[in-house]
Parts: sequence; structure tokens; C-alpha cells
Amino acid sequence: MAEKFRMENGLLLSDTTMVEFADGCADAGTFVPGTHEAGEVVPCPGCDGEHRIASVLQVEVAHNITVTKAEPADDDEPGT
Ligand SMILES: [Zn+2]
Repeated sequence: MAEKFRMENGLLLSDTTMVEFADGCADAGTFVPGTHEAGEVVPCPGCDGEHRIASVLQVEVAHNITVTKAEPADDDEPGT
């Protein structure tokens, strides 16, 4: 499945799903590109197999962020 990108507030975003696999291949949350639901079988990013999804958490990933310097956040954007 190809990732779908979109621009939103200057961020290049794509949908990603953090999944827990029913057979416990990965013991923590694993990120799978695209939008998926519990019960779907998807290719495993951690091995060559496929697994059934036990639970999901939909997230968005921003691809065009570069952190150049850490400093105190004193200029929060309005509307966020
Ligand atoms: Zn696996």
C-alpha cells in the first residue's frame, strides 16, 4: 500500500497506524503506514510474515520537520 501524503498547516503528513499484533510478534506498538483497523492482516514491519491486528491507534506522521536547535517554546502558534 502506498503512503498518501497531504499538506496541512505547512506540514507534510501521512496517515500511519500504531498497531498491536494479535500474535505478539512485536511486544510494543508497531507503526504500519496507512490506515488500518483491528482484525486486518497486514505485512509485518518486523519480520517477513503477516499478522492480524489486535488493536490500533491512528496517528499522523510529519515528514518535513527538521530540528535544528532546541530552545524554550515561547512563540506558540495561534490556533493550535
Ligand atoms: Zn512479525
